[in-house]
Amino acid sequence: MTPQPATRTAFGGPPLCPSCGSELTTAHERHENICGALACRGPWLQQQIAEQKRKEKAAQASIDDGGREYLQQKFPELQEKTQSGKSLLIVVPAIDYDQAPQPAERVAAFRRVLEEACVEAEQLANHPLRRNRLLSGYEPRDKDCDSRAVINACSTCRGWCCRMGHQHAYLSPEFLAWRFVQHESLTSEAMIDDYIDRIPEKSQNDSCLYHTEMGCALPREIRSSTCNDFLCPGLRQHKASIDQDPHQPTVVVAFDGEEYLRAADMDAAGNRNQPDGD
Ligand code: SF4
Ligand code: SF4
Ligand SMILES: [Zn+2]
Repeated sequence: MTPQPATRTAFGGPPLCPSCGSELTTAHERHENICGALACRGPWLQQQIAEQKRKEKAAQASIDDGGREYLQQKFPELQEKTQSGKSLLIVVPAIDYDQAPQPAERVAAFRRVLEEACVEAEQLANHPLRRNRLLSGYEPRDKDCDSRAVINACSTCRGWCCRMGHQHAYLSPEFLAWRFVQHESLTSEAMIDDYIDRIPEKSQNDSCLYHTEMGCALPREIRSSTCNDFLCPGLRQHKASIDQDPHQPTVVVAFDGEEYLRAADMDAAGNRNQPDGD
């Protein structure tokens, strides 16, 4: 969020809260130009969130325009499908495959992350109050719950968002604790060994260890709920439409920075065609 210049008194005194007029005492308050009182900070936070959403929407609208131009120039027949409403246009980021066996040190570092997360997870799972919160915070997943619209988007993108799972695959202590609560006999050792055994022979460099050319190597049931639920802005804006008709025909365009790289078309039966083929 962009910090606003602090409001100063007319006499150049200490900066004041623009909402209640009290002095901004900490560096944090001055940086954000709002005091810590809930009555000031609450509405300010809501404003920041609304502003963030507005910016995200405007940025995505311009990205979508670029996608339309790309289709018009390279695949006008696909552009026609989206314009006539036969297919939903989804514009998402792109990553290109650069797969390799991951070094033993990287796997060892991941094991240490899991070990630390499991120590915290065990404490959470054994805490009577936290147990109930965990049970209501996560839900069991089926193996195959993806909509074809989402499959087409993520296959055309190839997993841009998985780069952020580089160190941890989003296997947070809370999620691991939920797994302990679900399966009383599961031990940390068994869970860690299982996650390590599931690391594929080759995965995407500089991305999550489970990121492969075929998608995520972890079954949905043991994949973190962050991964199971995440939708990037390009997909999120169509959430209502996808929830209503998850297998609707889609045309997906994937971009990297200023460049639009590829497009793919999927019909309602799940037949997918990437006209530039690569
Ligand atoms: S959610 Fe978005 S960024 Fe992540 S893989 Fe799917 S299309 Fe790509
Ligand atoms: S666990 Fe799977 S979905 Fe999650 S970041 Fe890694 S590859 Fe992506
Ligand atoms: Zn205030």
